Amino acid sequence: MTLSVVTLPGDGVGPEVTAQATRVLQAISELLNLSIEIHEALIGGAALDSVGNPLPAQTLEYCRSANAIFLGAVGGPKWANAKVELRPEQGLLGLRKALGLFANLRPIKIHPALMDTSVLRPELLKGVDILMVRELTGGLYFGKRGRSTSYAFDTCEYSVREIERISRLAGNLAKTRRGKVTSVDKANVLDTSRLWRDTVDQVFAAEFADIELEHIYVDAAAMYLLSRPADFDVLLTENMFGDILSDEASMLSGSLGLLPSASLGADGPGLFEPIHGSAPDIAGQGIANPCGAILSISMLLRHSLDQPQAADAVEQAVAGVLEAGLRTSDLATIEGNTISTTTFGDEVLSRLSL
Ligand code: NAD
Repeated sequence: MTLSVVTLPGDGVGPEVTAQATRVLQAISELLNLSIEIHEALIGGAALDSVGNPLPAQTLEYCRSANAIFLGAVGGPKWANAKVELRPEQGLLGLRKALGLFANLRPIKIHPALMDTSVLRPELLKGVDILMVRELTGGLYFGKRGRSTSYAFDTCEYSVREIERISRLAGNLAKTRRGKVTSVDKANVLDTSRLWRDTVDQVFAAEFADIELEHIYVDAAAMYLLSRPADFDVLLTENMFGDILSDEASMLSGSLGLLPSASLGADGPGLFEPIHGSAPDIAGQGIANPCGAILSISMLLRHSLDQPQAADAVEQAVAGVLEAGLRTSDLATIEGNTISTTTFGDEVLSRLSL
């Protein structure tokens, strides 16, 4: 059987980190003797420049028929003033929508060798291992909206079905981890949050009696992520709360370049990407940190290609590089003592074994 993966390098540092992620995927396919066909396609600004559309029909067609999709990053100053429909980000939003990707997963683990690069004190970071599970297709970002010269509104809407499916995913993921889910809402103020809390309770009572479930308000969650981050296991959120909290939580790790993510739907291919953007300030210099991209390949192997052992091997190889004290410039504590994006990839490959 041949598995198919589409890579979408995109813009800025996207192609630089995608090159390293692709090398790791190729190496895994050789180590496992698994046939993986890797097909590169256009998205974002690169697609706009080439064919005038941030999500070309051909790219979407490739993605729909793939087992998994990897994306580097999209966007940059070159396209910042274009009309909304001609912005690179529309390529990514369009892809998420077309594939029905309703869940965004962001694991945040602090590698012991990187405790000194975080904004928090090392003693607060010990044992931090959070999986953020964010609902991606509902809520305030997709509700009815409007604007006149003197007034504007956005509405937050959620259905029981939308809350049930993300709750179920969080419950199933908690089973593979430490067995705890913290659901975030603002049930003291918002009706959507009260529906969220009741629905989460019902799903867990019926299907996940063995999982520890707690509810916290979003404002408290923002505080606890800084004061006791190690207490969280799976953090379940609606769309906007998750957008804000996941960026806050990413800062625990020390660099945006470190973290991977996955966006999953009910069926069909998942989309895997580092959490960072196109980093135009460092693009083309060969210094971007490819960790988040390479760890996204680990998530791709785990969630879409059903290769948990290979996923673990990629994580261990990345950890080995960090343990050896090798750093891209975003993580360097000693000036001048850094390695390039490609060298980081070389070091991961040299430690990869199954
Ligand atoms: P950004 O993540 O691109 O960069 C923020 C800062 O982090 C910059 O200083 C950058 O140099 C640094 N950084 C990011 N990735 C890094 C890496 N791998 N290694 C080392 N340092 C890294 O965010 P931004 O500057 O707000 O956005 C730039 C562009 O990216 C914008 O056009 C934005 O719309 C787009 N963007 C795209 C995505 C995506 O493709 N998923 C996500 C966020 C932003």
